[in-house]
Amino acid sequence: MQFLTDFLKQAKAGNLYRKTVTYNPISPTCVQMEGRRYLMLASNNYLGLTHDPAVQQAAIDAIRLYGTGSGGARLTTGTYLLVDQLEQELARFKEAEAALVFNTGYMANLGVLSSLAEPRDVIFSDELNHASIIDGCRLSRAQIAVYRHADMEHLHNLLEKTVCMGKRLIVTDGVFSMDGDLAPLGEITRLGELYDAIIVVDDAHSTGVIGPGGKGTAAHFGVSDKVQVQIGTLSKALGAEGGFVAGSKELIDYIKNKARSFIFSTALAPATIAAALAALRQLVTRPELVTRLTDNTQYVRRLLQAAKLPVVDGVTPIIPIIVGAEEASVRLAYELKQQGIIITAIRPPTVPTGTSRLRLTVNAAHELDELAWAVDIITAAINQPGMRVR
Ligand code: PMP
Repeated sequence: MQFLTDFLKQAKAGNLYRKTVTYNPISPTCVQMEGRRYLMLASNNYLGLTHDPAVQQAAIDAIRLYGTGSGGARLTTGTYLLVDQLEQELARFKEAEAALVFNTGYMANLGVLSSLAEPRDVIFSDELNHASIIDGCRLSRAQIAVYRHADMEHLHNLLEKTVCMGKRLIVTDGVFSMDGDLAPLGEITRLGELYDAIIVVDDAHSTGVIGPGGKGTAAHFGVSDKVQVQIGTLSKALGAEGGFVAGSKELIDYIKNKARSFIFSTALAPATIAAALAALRQLVTRPELVTRLTDNTQYVRRLLQAAKLPVVDGVTPIIPIIVGAEEASVRLAYELKQQGIIITAIRPPTVPTGTSRLRLTVNAAHELDELAWAVDIITAAINQPGMRVR
């Protein structure tokens, strides 16, 4: 079909063509492909829990006890004891009354936003919010007012001047997935109070990473009581798969009854739920995991800054090295792979044109010497003529 050919041709011509690459993860820090091992510096497995023996054993036990699939949607036959336990423990972890598990973080954002907002409402959304937030906003058919990234003056302005016949919602990533910076939740919640807006925070990259005990950005800023809706994922620091929302009992009851991405999809498999539950327990009982992640993050950030690489400042394990041109970012990622390091090149439409980057992520399982080795190689690659565009 011609339109398929045209689309793919255009994507290739603009260096925007994407394909899946096969990696076999053999540890939280190492992948294997065609007999060669690579250092993984691109995963969101922030605490390295995918290969934690207790987490793996919990998944194995769950398969033996409950089988491989859930066999039903959550409101029919897909809610089993492990799910109840996970939701209770997530709620406790988030210091919320209740929590609800979705099949992915993407589906959580889709379901929560599309059920909370209606066409009469206005959603105020950061321009760099994740695609799943954007899609959830669109699905709600509410008016969407996009504010410049983390620009509180602009948000204030929009809150002031946008006519709203219904509810106001402010939605933001807690940690932005491509820049690794934190949303200014202190100011956002203050504006939320001023304009009676419901605050929705997506802590996909913050749960297990930011805040005391990895409780997320609301806890980090001390505004947990002012963020009514906290979204998270089980697929990053918790090393499993799935998403969740935490909040008041009434909120969770409402979402359970309204969110189509919750209602009309088969529940997650026992192995996945058991892994997420075991990982959450590791996070709660082993605070040193978060400390180790923070230490590794600071170590790499320090080394990259000392090497004068164009790194975006911050405190999170998402460390973007801005390259600029799409072509250069792809070439760099390829060269690093040749040298045994996996770092992904992130390009438009995921990030704005001209801000293509290497997105380096650190996790708690990395050793300092392998991180130092990687920084040396990255530095040499970027310092080649023609690579450093910015
Ligand atoms: N929100 C943000 C900010 C994300 O980065 C992602 C995943 N990249 C998601 C939501 C979706 O989560 P999941 O991968 O669990 O669907």
